[in-house]
Amino acid sequence: MDLFEYHDGHLWCEAVPVRDLAARYGTPLYVYSAGTLAAHYHRMQQAFAELQPLICYSVKCCSNVHILRRLAALGSGFDVVSGGELYRALRAGADPAHVVFAGVGKTAREMREALEAGVGLLNVESASELEALAAVAAEVGVRAEAALRVIPEVDARTHAYTTTGTRANKFGLPFEQAAELVRAFAGSPHVHIRGLHLHIGSPVYDPQAYAVSIGRALELLDRLADAGLALDTLDIGGGYGAHYKGHESPAATDYAAAIVPLLRDRNLRVILEPGRSIAANAGVLVTRVLHTKETGCRRFVIVDAAMTELIRPALYSAYHFIWPVEAGERVPRDWTPAQPLDGLVTVDLVGPVCESGDFLAQDRPLPPLRPGDLVAVFTAGAYGMAMASQYNSRPRPAEVLVEQGAARLIRRRETYADLLRAEDDLDA
Ligand SMILES: *Cc1c(COP(=O)(O)O)cnc(C)c1O
Repeated sequence: MDLFEYHDGHLWCEAVPVRDLAARYGTPLYVYSAGTLAAHYHRMQQAFAELQPLICYSVKCCSNVHILRRLAALGSGFDVVSGGELYRALRAGADPAHVVFAGVGKTAREMREALEAGVGLLNVESASELEALAAVAAEVGVRAEAALRVIPEVDARTHAYTTTGTRANKFGLPFEQAAELVRAFAGSPHVHIRGLHLHIGSPVYDPQAYAVSIGRALELLDRLADAGLALDTLDIGGGYGAHYKGHESPAATDYAAAIVPLLRDRNLRVILEPGRSIAANAGVLVTRVLHTKETGCRRFVIVDAAMTELIRPALYSAYHFIWPVEAGERVPRDWTPAQPLDGLVTVDLVGPVCESGDFLAQDRPLPPLRPGDLVAVFTAGAYGMAMASQYNSRPRPAEVLVEQGAARLIRRRETYADLLRAEDDLDA
């Protein structure tokens, strides 16, 4: 699952004590394990090897350029959703032919940047966007390689804010409209529609949800082929799970078992866009207890990380396993409330931000915590730092990558001057 383990009564990231990193770089601090990142990438690659897929790591989940560089070196392509992410991927040394560009609202400028860079595939989500892409491609003087994102009508049964595969979401096109566009753009000199794109939500813990949506996409591909409009690419998106509580997520091999049999005889170019399943378990957020207090009905532990560092609990009611960095020997990573532990205190772990929604955990049994104690929030590598903000004028935290026994700073802690960087050189 990951290389964050307790030995000698405290937490280590690979061969480095997390408390040493907190002492050296301060808190709040994101700590990533390069070994875990690589292991998750390889597991995905091996599980789907029979299809020889193009794996396009989803940049939005953890977009630090040094992380992207490590993944590019492993051979990963990239799934980007903005011009900024494309810029990051290219700066990380990505092969543009192995970049796919998704998103419902690409601007003309972003389309131009993608086409000029030679991006391998633009995943298009509306007729309006396809027409705009054809116009930009004509200006640039290229034929854009495109896929159409379709709505598979699958409810991935994840949080309402992260389900994407139904007609009630803004993503994709109904099958009939997609078929109509493939017909209308056949032979277009400016857009070459190569395939279909699916992404049903995140995290999706039921491999069958993929099987159902891929089955529907294959039916459409068959109908198009019968009409002389064969496409050669199927991008099946991301959304594979991670371990937030214990070992609850299916493994890469479980997803592959549901998906590979559907695609093995299809002679399609298959693209995968995993994000969370690669990065989530490769990062922890380390925070220090500032204060504790009791209000008569609740006990609060106030820490120096907040929704500004990790918004998932506030935004999605997400659960993250949390445990003290110096915990003694007793660390039940697979512990559930059904197996009570002695000596725990039920607390709300909250940040300093002026919002009642600013919490990292509510009603959480934890060992007693005192000011100065370090706490690790696990499975914070995906949608953690990437969603961090400067709300309340809080400088964003530092990020450290542990690799081959050494820690490297991959993003310095922001300063107060950084808060004003885009404001104070203007004579407004
Ligand atoms: C966010 C996203 C992904 C990655 O989702 P994960 O849950 O991180 O795997 C893949 N593809 C698209 C189009 C996305 O928007």
